[in-house]
Amino acid sequence: MPLATGRRLVLCAGLFALIAGAAPAAFAASRNAAVPDTTGGTRVVMLGTGTPNPDPDRSGPAVAVIAGGRAYLVDCGPGVVRRAAAAAARGIRALEADRLSIVFVTHLHSDHTVGLPDLMLTPWVVERRVPLEVYGPPGIKDMTDHLLAAYAEDIRIRQSGLEPEKSDGYKVNAHEIEEGLVYSDSNVTVTAIAVPHANWEHAFGYRFEAHDRVIVISGDTRPSEAIARACNGCDVLVHEVYSLKGFKNRPSVWQRYHADAHTSTEQLAGIASWARPKLLVLYHQLFWGATDEDLVREVHRGYSGAVVSARDLDVYPLPVESAHPKKR
Ligand SMILES: [Zn+2]
Ligand SMILES: [Zn+2]
Repeated sequence: MPLATGRRLVLCAGLFALIAGAAPAAFAASRNAAVPDTTGGTRVVMLGTGTPNPDPDRSGPAVAVIAGGRAYLVDCGPGVVRRAAAAAARGIRALEADRLSIVFVTHLHSDHTVGLPDLMLTPWVVERRVPLEVYGPPGIKDMTDHLLAAYAEDIRIRQSGLEPEKSDGYKVNAHEIEEGLVYSDSNVTVTAIAVPHANWEHAFGYRFEAHDRVIVISGDTRPSEAIARACNGCDVLVHEVYSLKGFKNRPSVWQRYHADAHTSTEQLAGIASWARPKLLVLYHQLFWGATDEDLVREVHRGYSGAVVSARDLDVYPLPVESAHPKKR
């Protein structure tokens, strides 16, 4: 996407900020307070909010949309299965390891896919009996084929020894996608959105439409009008971001790359002002010395809607009954 579009979105910020308003209380965020599947509707669980930087507090990029009691994963950065287990231990049973059976990959950057062998094999070892369904850009089939080849001896030994698990749960059905409708079942309809990300030929965001909520996840992208259009009043927009203040202190060679690959807080304010999500969730944050609060402040300079900077295991939005606790 030409940079001019990003500038156009930023220019729109003032206009739309006036009508965006604050999000209703029902869409407030719940920080590290996972809720059981039986309460609330479709939700987003932030399994990993990290970047390639090996931050011990932020696992690699991975988000789960929980709808109809099933977990639909987006990306599989390092640590994905263990973060899912942590969310399951807090009551989100759809994220129990043996129930992880479908993932939508945004692009093939290693920080978003290093957890793919984990997602293929660990759930199988703990008795997932169905193959993993993987949707992703061209190249995802080669990746899964090579990973199965790399682990062929592990698979052979587990199947031929005394370990009781002999099912086909290690297998993978890889689906190479184009933009547009990529998946549908009784819980969700999933649309892939082509996004511009450095020199990647194929990179996607995803739009999940469930019976009660629409959730859009940007993946890695520089400012994208397509993401704004896909949201267009959605319930939750999960968007990558970097600190504008931190960016100004980066070496020029890195500034060139980040401007081509990612979205600044200022640019995201413009996108959100046009897209008017009920809740904007910042993830895959490049802080460069900034804090979560700094990022939210930077976005709020150009956008007046509800914004939260996500941490691992955050859940959005809160169920209505939790947002309005009964008085005793
Ligand atoms: Zn990334
Ligand atoms: Zn990337």
